[in-house]
Amino acid sequence: MKVFKTPRDMQDWSEEERRQGETLSLVPTMGYFHDGHLSLMKKGRELASRLVVSLFVNPTQFGANEDLDAYPSNIQRDLALAEAEGTSAVFLPSRDVMYPQGYQTYVELGSLPAHLCGLSRPVHFRGVATVVTKLFNIVQPHTAIFGSKDFQQLQVIRRMTADLNMNIRIVGCPIVREADGLAMSSRNSYLTPEERRSALCLSRSLDKAETLVRNGEKNSTVIGKALRDFIDSVAFTEIDYISLCDPESLEEVAEVSSPVLLALAVKVGKTRLIDNRVIVF
Ligand code: AMP
Repeated sequence: MKVFKTPRDMQDWSEEERRQGETLSLVPTMGYFHDGHLSLMKKGRELASRLVVSLFVNPTQFGANEDLDAYPSNIQRDLALAEAEGTSAVFLPSRDVMYPQGYQTYVELGSLPAHLCGLSRPVHFRGVATVVTKLFNIVQPHTAIFGSKDFQQLQVIRRMTADLNMNIRIVGCPIVREADGLAMSSRNSYLTPEERRSALCLSRSLDKAETLVRNGEKNSTVIGKALRDFIDSVAFTEIDYISLCDPESLEEVAEVSSPVLLALAVKVGKTRLIDNRVIVF
């Protein structure tokens, strides 16, 4: 497995592989791998002859008071896991190499970032769209794989790729969960044992909402209130948002129709967690 630290070296390798007729898939990550990341790598291996994994904690997608400097990292372990998944090359750039002195170009979308996580993380999706564009230009993949754990991110990237005529197939993968239902996340490592128990309220809320909808409740306010009351009753929690919305536009819906996206963000202690489910009925 090759490890490239500069865009030039990564680009040269990708160009040569493409010239030789290989197909490339890319899994962009911020590292500290769990089974969610590994599931994307498995998909990437299926869909192309060469898998590239990028590992970069992208500063432009973090707000000023967020966890950029605390973000967990274990690069040696990540490299071993990526290699075990059959990765051909890892792109592991420094911040300076991605955003050198004088950097000033950003990719911004219109309405998609104005919902869900974009409301409490105003610079987040501009950072994501920018770094993913850079990664696409550097790695030149045929296919890129993303998790639907970050549902809004996946929609932002699908939209951006279509809008900017990027010749890259975007593939979404299902959310990988712990045995008790908690969506896997590198940020779960921040949780104390008590907070870890409280964190289950996210996946339980998805179950509760699905049951309500299947039992005929279609009023978003009623469903939202039931979830709010439930989460408020759980220790250490603070709700950022609970949204029932259109899975494409992410616009909130007053009346639930199929399919509907239920997305939520909850702070558990100091850790902000997200989860979602598309309910089809
Ligand atoms: P991150 O390293 O957190 O930026 O995530 C890198 C990629 O892994 C993104 O496409 C995420 O959506 C995806 N991912 C993160 N957690 C999960 C999970 N539990 N299941 C599936 N994909 C995930």
